[in-house]
Amino acid sequence: MGQSSKFSHIIDFIKTLYPGQDFIPLHEPRFTGNEKKYVADAIDSTFVSSVGAYVNRFEEMMQEITGAKYAVATVNGTAALHMALLVAGVKQGDEVLTQDLSFIATANAISYIGAKPVFLDIDRKNLGLSADVLQAFLDEWGQKGAEGTINKKTGNRIAACVPMHSFGFPCEIDRIAAVCSEWNIPLIEDAAESLGSYYKGKHTGTFGLLGTYSFNGNKTVTCGGGGAIVTNNEQLAKLAKHLTTQAKVPHAWEFNHDYIGYNYRMPNLNAALACAQLEQLAGFVENKRKLAATYKAFFQDIAGIAYCEEAKEAKANYWLNVLLLDNREERDAFLAEANNNGVMSRPAWTLMHKLPMFRDCQHDSVAVSQWVEDRLVNIPSSVRV
Ligand SMILES: *Cc1c(COP(=O)(O)O)cnc(C)c1O
Repeated sequence: MGQSSKFSHIIDFIKTLYPGQDFIPLHEPRFTGNEKKYVADAIDSTFVSSVGAYVNRFEEMMQEITGAKYAVATVNGTAALHMALLVAGVKQGDEVLTQDLSFIATANAISYIGAKPVFLDIDRKNLGLSADVLQAFLDEWGQKGAEGTINKKTGNRIAACVPMHSFGFPCEIDRIAAVCSEWNIPLIEDAAESLGSYYKGKHTGTFGLLGTYSFNGNKTVTCGGGGAIVTNNEQLAKLAKHLTTQAKVPHAWEFNHDYIGYNYRMPNLNAALACAQLEQLAGFVENKRKLAATYKAFFQDIAGIAYCEEAKEAKANYWLNVLLLDNREERDAFLAEANNNGVMSRPAWTLMHKLPMFRDCQHDSVAVSQWVEDRLVNIPSSVRV
């Protein structure tokens, strides 16, 4: 018995959801389908690297699931973002609008190009980029020109906008897409956390020019490490595939390359695992949505804690369940008590504009992002047996 047991009723409840576990992780992978079979098959085929039947199958499955015309497998979600930005035409010295509350990979990928992120505030309702804030920022700082939109503050081109569907909650992506198209800014969705999430019946990641996904070990489905780019643009899909495979000009034996390429392809071994996981995606999401309904019912009666729900127009995968506590002290007390009692819980990412690498990047007031950072915790969200 610790002296602080303010949240013991919550911690005890979470333990009932995952019976028989001493330690309840935040998000644990589940390999209960064809994983071993497909991986063994990939080994037997000797095609374990970046060429193989499972890579093709994975890309086809991603097209089917998202409804995008083309999918390109990548080695991870960060590489997928990097390549999506590159093929969208983002160049060194450009700027990319994104949200202040995100995992570091979004801002890092922008930086790999030599472009600068601009950090905008999020929407309190869905924790993703706010369409109103985006509109207001462009009204204040945007200047339409022949080559797209220029940021009046810096004179640099605004070459892309990258919203992120935080924790699997879709942002108002149709409104964001409308603002981007009004300002002629390519839209790239960081859908790393939202595979299986839909907005107005359309899969997240398919509203703009390109969308990217991650299959890291903590995501809804995983292949150890992996990523994907989706698009309806055939040329961009071909270019992405080309650039992620060292830009090798196809030939039976000769090695010719026509760009500076990247070794960013997903190995067939990982693709085998990914195919087996994608077969279970719909079931996993259903399972997670049931868990979300259970959490929602429980937290309805708890004062001082708000449970975050999907918007009416959205169907979330509930990758990670989100609580908002009353203030930062309450948040820290919850994190300490939960983690000290075998229930893993974690805060939001430190806001991007506070990190040393990004301190000189432009940002707006980011008041909602700060409000959320002070209050947010994620609680155990794994698919249950
Ligand atoms: C997981 C994640 C990524 C990609 O991560 P990888 O580990 O490189 O696959 C990108 N953006 C966000 C927001 C993420 O959560």
